[in-house]
Amino acid sequence: MSNALNKASLNGQRLAKRLSGEGINNQQVLQVIAATPRQIFIDEALEYKAYDDTALPIGHGQTISQPYIVAKMTQTLLANGPLNNVLEIGTGSGYQCAILAQLVTKVYTVERIKALQRQAKRRLRSIDLHNIAMKHGDGWQGWHSKGPFDAIMVTAAPDQIPMKLLEQLKDGGQMIIPVGTTSQTLLLITREGERFTQQKIEAVKFVPLLAGDLS
Ligand code: SAH
Repeated sequence: MSNALNKASLNGQRLAKRLSGEGINNQQVLQVIAATPRQIFIDEALEYKAYDDTALPIGHGQTISQPYIVAKMTQTLLANGPLNNVLEIGTGSGYQCAILAQLVTKVYTVERIKALQRQAKRRLRSIDLHNIAMKHGDGWQGWHSKGPFDAIMVTAAPDQIPMKLLEQLKDGGQMIIPVGTTSQTLLLITREGERFTQQKIEAVKFVPLLAGDLS
């Protein structure tokens, strides 16, 4: 192993240990966090912060989520057993997508900023993750032709739950989503036929899920 990779792996292990202390107990999730080089998903200038448990800017006014939140959302969706197809809204840096792709069969991810999508595609290829399909589009619409999904993970906060996303859940499927403006709550929504139940996970702070127009 090269020195750089060795260092990344040690840092990843340290981060996983920290998350385990904060209540992340899914060993598969911890292993994947430990093994994924978070530094390739951020600008070189911020590399020294890559393994801190914080959100970081990724350009275009967007952020890569805090590792604890990435782990918490992933572990929550995996709690009911293995997942086949998962839809992520808000590809951003591609880091959350990289974590998911190592734990489920196939990830579909939608991003409204073309430049971020292109960059994420290159990064995910560079670490040999190929079970990912990407789309430049509006997350409020989901990805109808690829659904319905076992799970949907929304990584930007709408002011209300997008109906189109609920429709793209399988029966028994779950969606994890931060909802709100100044104050936001992470919700876990479960579909049972045409009924949807919702459970509050915790208070969070995400960038907003912006409306419609693409850039
Ligand atoms: N999952 C990302 C988090 C990125 S921040 C990561 O791991 O880095 C949220 C992302 O959602 C941003 O990239 C933002 O451009 C995107 N976004 C915001 N509104 C959107 C919308 N309506 N449709 C698709 N993506 C959207």
